[in-house]
Amino acid sequence: MSAHVIVRGLTRIFDVSKPWLNRVLERRGKAFLTAVSEVDFEIEERTTYALVGESGSGKSTIGKMLVGLLSPTEGDVEIEGVDLARERDARRAATVRSNIQMIFQDPYASLNPRWRVRDIIVEPVASKGGDTELLAERLLEQVGLHPTDAGKFPHEFSGGQRQRICIARALASQPRLIVCDEPTSALDVSVQAQVLNLMSDLKDDLGLTYLLITHDLTVVRHMADRIGVLYLGRLVEEADPETLFEAPKHPYSQMLLDAAPRMDAFGREVVPPTGEIPDPIDPPKGCAFHPRCPIAADICRKERPRMRPLGTTKVACHLAE
Ligand code: SF4
Repeated sequence: MSAHVIVRGLTRIFDVSKPWLNRVLERRGKAFLTAVSEVDFEIEERTTYALVGESGSGKSTIGKMLVGLLSPTEGDVEIEGVDLARERDARRAATVRSNIQMIFQDPYASLNPRWRVRDIIVEPVASKGGDTELLAERLLEQVGLHPTDAGKFPHEFSGGQRQRICIARALASQPRLIVCDEPTSALDVSVQAQVLNLMSDLKDDLGLTYLLITHDLTVVRHMADRIGVLYLGRLVEEADPETLFEAPKHPYSQMLLDAAPRMDAFGREVVPPTGEIPDPIDPPKGCAFHPRCPIAADICRKERPRMRPLGTTKVACHLAE
C-alpha cells in the first residue's frame, strides 16, 4: 500500500449564522462561509505537496479534512485507495487513518506540560496496546535529541527541540502520510532550517509522504515537489517549485513571491502584499482576486477563471500566458 493521496472537488462550507432569535429580530437570513471550494490535487507517494496561501485561504481546513478532523461538504479525499468520509468498512478506514499523523504549528501548545517526554512520544502506540520498549529513546535519537531526554518535561526544551519531540511523537505510530500545518512558523529562522532539514531527511529515510501547509513560500522552495497556491479557498496555481519561483503565472503567486525574502537578492526592496483578503462570506464576483489584481480586466469581474494547464503549470487566470 502507498500513501498516494487524491483530492477531488473538495469543498467545505461552514454555517456561520447568528442564532435564530437574533436573525428574526435583525431580519437576517442564514450566513454561509465557503472555506474551501472545488479543490483538486494529487500527492504522489514519498513526495511533498505544499499548500501555500495567506491566512484565511483555507489551507488548514484542507489539512483537517485530509486527516479526518473535518468532513467535506462536497468532494472526496482518497488515501491509499480509501475515501475516509465514505468508507463503510470500519477496519479498512481505521487502518488508513493509523497511517496518517499531523504536526501542528505551536510546539508549546501541542505537548502536555505535565507529562514526561517519554510518555508524550509513546502515547499513540501505548493507547493501542503496542510495544513501547525503548521506543521514545530510539525516536529521540532519530530526531537529533538525546535518549536521556525521555525523562524530562517539555518546559526543559527550546522551541526547536519541542518541535523535534512533536515529530518523534508523530513518527511513533510509523505513519506513511504526515500533514504538517505551519510546522516551523513559531520558530526562529535558523531553527526553522534545522527542523525542515530533519523533516526532509526523515522523508527520504522512512519513505514518508508530506502535505506541508504554510503561508511562507520560502519554506517550501527546497522541500516541496509540487506547490499549490490557494486564494480564498480555491487553488489558483499549481507548479513544481523551480517553475513557480522562476516564472509564476498567476498575479497572486507573483505578489507572494515579491513579498518573500530572497537570499540571492539581499538588500532588494520587499514589496508587501497589497490589499486585504475579501470577506469569504461575500466573495467578489468573477475572479476573487480581481480587487487586488494589478492587471484585472473586465472579464475578471464577470467570469470566474477555471484551472487550466499552461506548460507544466496549472493556473486559474484569464490573462496568464
Ligand atoms: Fe487578475 Fe483577472 Fe487573472 Fe484574476 S483572472 S488573477 S483578476 S488577471
